[in-house]
Amino acid sequence: MFAALNEKLQGVFRKLRGEVKLTEENIKEAIKQVRIALLEADVNYKVVKKFIDNVQSKAIGEIVLKSLTPDQVFIKLVHDELVSILGSHTSKINLKPNPPTVIMLVGLQGSGKTTTAGKLAKYFQKDGRSTLLVADDIYRPAAIDQLIVLGNQLKTDVFYDKESKNATEIAVRGVDQAKKSAKDIVIIDTAGRLHIDEDLMKELKSIKNAVNPDEILFVADAMIGQDAVNVAKQFNEAIGITGVIFTKLDGDARGGAALSIMEVTGVPIKFVGIGEKLDAFELFHPDRMASRILGMGDVVTLVEMAQEAIDAEEAKEMATKVGKTGLDFNDLLQQFRMIKKMGSLESIMKLIPGLSAMPDLNVDDKQFKRIEAIIYSMTPEERKKAHIINGSRKKRIAKGSGTTVNDVNKLIMQLEQMNKMLKKFKNKFGGTNKFDRKM
Ligand code: GDP
Repeated sequence: MFAALNEKLQGVFRKLRGEVKLTEENIKEAIKQVRIALLEADVNYKVVKKFIDNVQSKAIGEIVLKSLTPDQVFIKLVHDELVSILGSHTSKINLKPNPPTVIMLVGLQGSGKTTTAGKLAKYFQKDGRSTLLVADDIYRPAAIDQLIVLGNQLKTDVFYDKESKNATEIAVRGVDQAKKSAKDIVIIDTAGRLHIDEDLMKELKSIKNAVNPDEILFVADAMIGQDAVNVAKQFNEAIGITGVIFTKLDGDARGGAALSIMEVTGVPIKFVGIGEKLDAFELFHPDRMASRILGMGDVVTLVEMAQEAIDAEEAKEMATKVGKTGLDFNDLLQQFRMIKKMGSLESIMKLIPGLSAMPDLNVDDKQFKRIEAIIYSMTPEERKKAHIINGSRKKRIAKGSGTTVNDVNKLIMQLEQMNKMLKKFKNKFGGTNKFDRKM
């Protein structure tokens, strides 16, 4: 997401890096380039105008005040303004003290509502909350089935009634059921249409009046660009929305709609969908998103993901073992499993500052899988003692993993190098205890 904008802005900052100080001249040029970059990223023109005016007026005051390098000053200005148009602070879902909290999902057909209902349920489950999904798209039996499948996958209850043709009644019964079974959160997946129409709005208003939801979240497809902003505006005017969930941000390299929606509708983005899988879903943090757009990486997200995924005990045990006997292929497999829990390797790399700007960095999920296949084709003994892997064993492993002897050789060499490095490290830091801590 935001790939093109990121590249353009990096270019602007790079040019400024050569300058000694910010002058009216170079600010003018940099601002002109930022303006073009935002417009090309499909950001609403009114939002761009406000953005540029703000950066410009602050930049002029900044020259006198700060003694930082020009590019640093300018990056900070652009960053702060991005945070501001993205909504300044993280807007969480307001959970009611007396459950269930009722969340109504609205939006056009195909925007990702049903998938998002599942993602939201998973998000709350991680937080130890119970959920009930309500299938309220009475026009498309397939949508009901899709939600049932998601419910099974997540082991969460789904309320549906394929016989009923009354969406309001289903919503009311769904909320009642959630109350009876003491669920924390009810998520109502309403019907969408290909275009906004009167009947859809009437139905949504009727559901809203009947269940009095705590949140009405508009699910917006980032791929449709500015249309998503216009549709959100109309939904907001017709029924009132409390938040936006942007889906398919993984697919939209421009991301202009996400940058415009808060400014245009006054409604904050609460979550973003960044893939089809149920865990490709994040709480929206304006400051982190701004850092990502600027290519400064997103260290905070990375650290949180790591904390969530890595079992501290498991990591400590491994460190102790590796410190004593060196690294073997079993340890590599275990490390891969830990990394995988954090998401795809490529998505993790994108979060690391600087790495996203290195085009020839040759680590991807495919390579990861190839290494795994090689290790899986080894016998347990070979995984423990790499030195016993001779020529005929290498041939067998290559055949078993669909790779070449050269690939197997490379991996064995890499393991040897890692062990050499570990030894150096160990000597430098003394005994295993200190070494463990460093790990
Ligand atoms: P609904 O008609 O609004 O209920 O939309 P669906 O939930 O059926 O989603 C429509 C399509 O969008 C499906 O193919 C989903 O897998 C896909 N989709 C939903 N969210 C995302 C997302 O965040 N990223 C990507 N790449 N695809 C998504």
